[in-house]
Amino acid sequence: MRTRAAVATAPQTDLEIREVELDAPRSDELQVKVVASGICHTDAIIRDQWYPVPLPTVLGHEGAGIVEAVGADVEGFAVGDKVVLGPAYCGRCEQCLDGHPMFCVNFYDRNFGGGRADGSKSFSDDSGEISSHFFGQSSFAEHTNVVASGAVKVPDDAPLDLLGPLGCGIMTGSGAVLNVLQPQPGSSVAVFGTGAVGMSGMLAAKAAGATTIIMVDIVPERLEFAKELGATHTVNSKETDPIEAIKEITGGGVEYALDTTGVPPVFAQMTKSLATRGHGALVGAAKLGTEAPFDIGTLLLSGIKISMVVEGDAVPQEFIPRLIALHAAGTFPFDKLTKSYAFEDINQAFADSANGTTLKPIIVF
Ligand SMILES: [Zn+2]
Ligand SMILES: [Zn+2]
Repeated sequence: MRTRAAVATAPQTDLEIREVELDAPRSDELQVKVVASGICHTDAIIRDQWYPVPLPTVLGHEGAGIVEAVGADVEGFAVGDKVVLGPAYCGRCEQCLDGHPMFCVNFYDRNFGGGRADGSKSFSDDSGEISSHFFGQSSFAEHTNVVASGAVKVPDDAPLDLLGPLGCGIMTGSGAVLNVLQPQPGSSVAVFGTGAVGMSGMLAAKAAGATTIIMVDIVPERLEFAKELGATHTVNSKETDPIEAIKEITGGGVEYALDTTGVPPVFAQMTKSLATRGHGALVGAAKLGTEAPFDIGTLLLSGIKISMVVEGDAVPQEFIPRLIALHAAGTFPFDKLTKSYAFEDINQAFADSANGTTLKPIIVF
């Protein structure tokens, strides 16, 4: 079928909206009419080729839409179902079988391989084949073929124009807190970075009942916004040493911390701001080969724990419905982080995300 897609052609270059041909869905796929798709930092870094996904490609990995066709071998989905699209995983490796599909040993190939496992690509135009199946979905298209195992069926009354980011950015921050750190009611949490991932982590900490929630960043407006959304304390790390500030606020160190930046000195600050036997998590992506300092002499005695967390270590089919339920109950207002853009304005949305004007842009088709 013919459809329209935003095609990434070269690093640091605007996406091109083009008419493209979409092939038929395979037996393990769903064809989805995309209603909306969030834009995530990973779309920008792949456009810029931090990881070598073959260009040209259709990016987009926070899609939400309506099932239009169901592959012959797919169970549990019907035409007309509403779905949120999460990352693809194999379902058969030991990590998948152990309940940690975001650490699937085939994760890279399935999500960054540029096409299906057999090498075929869904999209093409007069100039040739266009890479597809980014995160199993390539959702910057009006219609796309997605790996059914990555799709999450959501209730008929679910607001699809809002829910796409639950498939990556919002799941990353909230999952790291709810699935990995698991702060108890009354505990203290510090979050480094006030982007969409950090703010989602903050909202999750609040939903979990943490009563001291410290947000660290260098942008005063963002820190102010974090306070409006529920942070109890903010630290501008341009002006104040965050380690000392956090130790003072918490009386010695914070119990749980999240680094959403992937910036080496920030990671070091997180490790040093933890209380004895505190638990920190890193979710921020860094270029391959990035190293961070880690004072094993001091930290050994503190007994802290550090977790590296991909996509919130979630099982999306279990976790995303929980986030939808929390949102419906009013305790996880992630919609306050989002702003909608028309498909034609997708490059403006990328720019607004990069310069921080918009925390979580959502393209509505
Ligand atoms: Zn797997
Ligand atoms: Zn993402």
